[in-house]
Amino acid sequence: MSMNSEGRVTRPETAAPANVDSFTGNKGLMLEEALIFEIGASDRTGVDLPEAPKIASRLGGLEREAPISLPGLSEPEVVRHYTRLSRQNYAIDLGLFPLGSCTMKHNPRLNEKMARLPGFADIHPLQPQETVQGAYALIHLVGEWLVRLTGMAAVAMSPKAGAHGELCGLLAIRSALEARGDARKVILVPESAHGTNPATAAFCGYAVENIPATAEGRVDLEALKARLGPDVAGVMITNPNTCGLFERDMSAISDAVHAAGGFVYCDGANFNAIVGRVRPGDLGIDAMHINLHKTFSTPHGGGGPGSGPVVFSEALAPFAPLPFVEKDGDHYHLVEEETAGEHHADSFGRMVAFHGQMGMFTRAAAYMLSHGADGLRQVSGDAVLNANYVLRSLEDVLDAPFGASGPCMHEALFSDEGLAQGFTTLDVAKGLIDEGFHPMTMYFPLVVHGAMLVEPTETESKAALDQFIGALRSVAERAKAGDPALKAAPVHAPRRRLDETAAARKPVLVWKEPASGGSAAAA
Ligand SMILES: *Cc1c(COP(=O)(O)O)cnc(C)c1O
Repeated sequence: MSMNSEGRVTRPETAAPANVDSFTGNKGLMLEEALIFEIGASDRTGVDLPEAPKIASRLGGLEREAPISLPGLSEPEVVRHYTRLSRQNYAIDLGLFPLGSCTMKHNPRLNEKMARLPGFADIHPLQPQETVQGAYALIHLVGEWLVRLTGMAAVAMSPKAGAHGELCGLLAIRSALEARGDARKVILVPESAHGTNPATAAFCGYAVENIPATAEGRVDLEALKARLGPDVAGVMITNPNTCGLFERDMSAISDAVHAAGGFVYCDGANFNAIVGRVRPGDLGIDAMHINLHKTFSTPHGGGGPGSGPVVFSEALAPFAPLPFVEKDGDHYHLVEEETAGEHHADSFGRMVAFHGQMGMFTRAAAYMLSHGADGLRQVSGDAVLNANYVLRSLEDVLDAPFGASGPCMHEALFSDEGLAQGFTTLDVAKGLIDEGFHPMTMYFPLVVHGAMLVEPTETESKAALDQFIGALRSVAERAKAGDPALKAAPVHAPRRRLDETAAARKPVLVWKEPASGGSAAAA
């Protein structure tokens, strides 16, 4: 086998798994693709430029001495390279993306078209306010929708992702406590919480303590009440929670926390399951972030721009961050530190350089306006219906630990209970790749052994759900029967099983030119 400097196979695999009979070991019109540096050569180029004139250097001796080592390629080689790579990536535009907790839903093309309008896309945050009234109107409009849909008092649009929104909410809670001279030190977080919740609390300087879950997968109200006291700043509760269940005791939780002098933060990443049906403001919540990239269909993934506006109760609204857009008759203006005046003197300050993610706001506005209030209500209904269809269609082959707790919300949770000896959730996930699907979220939430969290979202048709259910069913049956071939999966993907820990911990991000004649040491 021919390997590159990082130990990747770049030539036909001679030792392909027994049931793969293609020359390269790959299938489905999928060619092996080397790094662009390996395809290129320094004596080739895709452009023809005239010789640069000799000019006197003004770099003061800092000029590069060695060649820059860019790969030389022709235009078709470059186009093919990146097109082939793009075909090796799974995407929401290719098929169902069952990642629970992530809400990978369709991004309507209308949103994209609106976000590219020059009046939104080609403006600068430092432009005079009179020249960007339309952009401010749009930010204000999205904020108003969020306040209405959540039944809260105020909104901060600037946080740039869910986790950033959590930080915003906790900073407001901390400011409110400091304003009354109350130095509480503990944030309570349920066992099933998304990892960002305890991380945010710790980042804000709080000690984090766990609240146990009941056998049916919800917050244990009695255990929570028993822990409340003068040292507890607040709780962070995800509703609907990461087991895919609605926290029915939310009002009682809020009442108890308020009675003990604390604040209630709600992780609203799962708002897509209740939008148009439940107003968090009615449940006593003080602050909640909303992931526009989950509930309101703006794209996400690959770490790329999200948006996590935070809504606040009356009690926390005065502490919300600056700047924000205020409407004054037909005119919009920014409330900044310099112009805030006494009215906003309690704001905890600024979170980001400017006003937030304009492109995401535009996409969310297009989504809200094109759906309307009735459409958003249907979104949550369909999301819950689709998840329950998945749950009930598979609970005869996969263990559904909270299946008896009633209908699920927007995601279906299974465990590895009942798989054959030696077979794990990982095997099921790898098997799904061979079936043509991106795997579901695995090993999260931690409260369930070998968790598989499936979120189909509302945009999947029954036909698409049936296709996915059929695929997962067949893989689950193989894992229960202990089919040894499943241990080799995936065999139809460009790569077999990788050392994922090594890939995450020791990523090879730098290509080094091989020393002449020999093969390069890994970078
Ligand atoms: C996605 C998610 C978050 C974090 O949101 P980001 O935008 O990825 O920072 C927090 N909590 C829950 C429950 C989530 O699903």
